[in-house]
Amino acid sequence: MTTSEPDCLFCKIVAGGVPAEIVREGERVLAFRDINPQAPTHVLVIPREHYPDAASAARAGTGLLDEIAAEAHAIAEAEDIASTGYRLVFNTGSGAGQTVFHLHCHLLGGRGMEWPPG
Ligand code: C5P
Repeated sequence: MTTSEPDCLFCKIVAGGVPAEIVREGERVLAFRDINPQAPTHVLVIPREHYPDAASAARAGTGLLDEIAAEAHAIAEAEDIASTGYRLVFNTGSGAGQTVFHLHCHLLGGRGMEWPPG
């Protein structure tokens, strides 16, 4: 397992080569604001290590998905949206809208959410 992919945009953000508005930094995860926000709070929580998607990290038994969910909840509390509710999204595969193939969790909140999502 490589920890970083040279052509991966989010690996570049982890390395500091591409700017991002960092919200929280942990030993294994990093959170930054989405450049094209879809809600008042729209933060991406990613692992520092490169995994193409949530399934690959789960298969590897990393525990990263637990850590990402806990980190997202801590950010939701800090942004005061935890009590009203928020949405976590892992787009997995291009058909589901995944455009960056480095595992990331969208944390969305601060407005009402509809179901089903588009
Ligand atoms: O789930 P998906 O792969 O579509 O999400 C990628 C997200 O990364 C998009 O919401 C996009 O706005 C965001 N992005 C970003 N900073 C970049 C490039 C993409 O926040 N430099």
